Amino acid sequence: MPDKHIDVCFFNGAIRTEENERMAKLLRQKTKALIAFGSCACDGCVIGLGNLWNRENVFERAYMETPSTKNPQRTTPQTHLKVNEGELELPEFYDTVKTLAQTVDVDYFLSGCPPPVPLIINAAMAIFKNELPPKGSVLMPTKSICDECPREKKDKKLSEVKRIYEIEDDQETCFLDQQVICMGPATREGCEAQCPKVNMPCTGCGGPSPRVSDQGAAMAGAIASIATDTNVIDQIMDPIGTFYKFSLANSILKRKVIE
Ligand code: SF4
Repeated sequence: MPDKHIDVCFFNGAIRTEENERMAKLLRQKTKALIAFGSCACDGCVIGLGNLWNRENVFERAYMETPSTKNPQRTTPQTHLKVNEGELELPEFYDTVKTLAQTVDVDYFLSGCPPPVPLIINAAMAIFKNELPPKGSVLMPTKSICDECPREKKDKKLSEVKRIYEIEDDQETCFLDQQVICMGPATREGCEAQCPKVNMPCTGCGGPSPRVSDQGAAMAGAIASIATDTNVIDQIMDPIGTFYKFSLANSILKRKVIE
């Protein structure tokens, strides 16, 4: 296939292995417009939380520690293995999960886990009509989830943090007013607030809201501004998993430094 033979490629998935990286580079070469499609390609998504560890830690957990694993010889995947028939090669598993844009040049971004169907249709129509916006655009609305959420926002004050199962949700009031962490203020709109509408707080799959470069830092800042007490932050069971569930690989820090 000649270079730039493909008009548009929707690239799904983060860059975790050598194979992912090779595929990204190959498709970049063969495609006119490359779209980072979904939270993994745009922001690293939940597998980006692997950046709190390194390859050795991940292999230790996956191939030795899990309760269903029996591996007395402590075998882990190798990149090369000699067998009678020749040498087998497996792609390298990297220490760090990267986003597509950290690996190759990306033309457009469409996030979500999964991306909302109406936005996929909009993107497809824009491609067919040759009406795509300028390179680098996010093919999503320029609002935050809170802008679309029908729940009533009151005088947000966070005096304690509760999990969703610990409240009797009135189905009308903002989750933050009910003392439940909701990522709506720091998350880009596109899903029409699907989760809050079905009584679950937003977990942030749409990626950083417009004008926010670091979703987790923005949300931590929002919580700090409404917390009545510093102990409130300590009540968040898993701050990184809460604030950076979908975007650690694309955050300012990107990963934990492991010596
Ligand atoms: Fe809705 Fe959550 Fe925003 Fe409250 S914080 S308005 S529940 S999206």
